[in-house]
Amino acid sequence: MNTAPLWFDENVRDSLQNHRRANRHETAYFVYQLDALKAHLAQLQNQDVIKLWFAVKANPLSSIIKALDSQGFNFDVASSGELSQVLAQGIEPERVLNTGPAKSKNQLSRFLTQGVNTFVVESLNQLNWLNDVAIEQKCRPQVLLRVQLQWPEDGKNPLGGNTVTPFGLSTEIWSQINVRDYPSLDISGLHIFQWGNMLSNEKMYSLWSQMVEPLTTLAKTIGMTLKVLDLGGGLGIDYLQEGRQLSWQKIIRDLALIKEQAGVEELWLELGRYAVAECGYYVVPVVDRKTNFEQEQLVLAAGINHLLRPAITEQPFPVTRLRDNRAKQGKHNFEIHGPLCTSMDKLGQLELPKDTDVGDQLIFGYCGAYGFTESMPFFLCHEIAAEYVYQNGELEEIRAAQPASWYLR
Ligand SMILES: *Cc1c(COP(=O)(O)O)cnc(C)c1O
Repeated sequence: MNTAPLWFDENVRDSLQNHRRANRHETAYFVYQLDALKAHLAQLQNQDVIKLWFAVKANPLSSIIKALDSQGFNFDVASSGELSQVLAQGIEPERVLNTGPAKSKNQLSRFLTQGVNTFVVESLNQLNWLNDVAIEQKCRPQVLLRVQLQWPEDGKNPLGGNTVTPFGLSTEIWSQINVRDYPSLDISGLHIFQWGNMLSNEKMYSLWSQMVEPLTTLAKTIGMTLKVLDLGGGLGIDYLQEGRQLSWQKIIRDLALIKEQAGVEELWLELGRYAVAECGYYVVPVVDRKTNFEQEQLVLAAGINHLLRPAITEQPFPVTRLRDNRAKQGKHNFEIHGPLCTSMDKLGQLELPKDTDVGDQLIFGYCGAYGFTESMPFFLCHEIAAEYVYQNGELEEIRAAQPASWYLR
């Protein structure tokens, strides 16, 4: 009985089993399957409805950026660091979009100088600063205004809670501007993204369609010809293994309708997890096992110091065991903890074969997004995780593991 989960590619098992750590500081590592990633991205590009951007925050590793580049993705960056990393991979700045709530006038000026020409503007200050620096630099960047919508609390609210965030502005505030007052900006689009990890095509479509009216009304009010609508990211990953998955074909059909309803020339998405989550695994050894108040506990060499997401979302990444699962034995629900001296350091309560024990290696899935760079690696002075890519049947080290002395002063 082979009980490997759907998200795990059996072809990789041998390579992981034969892997010997590259240096003595390596306790745990990430591995990204580039061939599988490229095939997945090619499938996402096999349509002519949406222009696709990659939200770099999901995984800024050089090899990942290059794989996205090879499949014709453009890049959404939200910091100077992300911009440098993208440009360092040879991406032309014209293929970069800048989002984010904290763009200073200085940063806007530097981005323009570096050749970035597309900005999602999230405040009136950003709008005025960008206009000023565009005049100074004699250029005319393309601008999308980021909108945050609220629905009346009448049970039909598609977003659940109406939490106010620093991302963008209400249509009321944006309505006070007029695009004619910003001749140095090509204000020709709207951006909206305020949902996360959506797993239902129906819900997604309902959400998108309810945005068309307020957005097209706003465009009219401020004298904008609405050419571009950017619907952000948020396409979900089935982290909890509930058998819920979005159909990409359905998304394309739905978005073709939205594009028509909004009357826009271009529809954009900036994908994060939906593009890269599935290509990544995180491999970590079990250091201890014990029974505690009737709980079966596993303690791993690393936890939220390498993989923070479960602690902040209460959604574990799915797990399997590297040692073959074929043994005809039952499974057990284990409490899986990391090494940090805080009860927050928990990767989940998950099923594994009963005889899982000290020295076994666990593989967590969907770690291609929001893994390495979303973690809290410095707390308690453990090692920094290594990062590998898997391509043509080979593991290649991209980042070596480092001891705490590497960053401690
Ligand atoms: C994080 C982010 C994304 C990607 O989100 P996913 O849920 O990973 O798809 C896209 N756009 C913006 C502006 C973001 O901040």
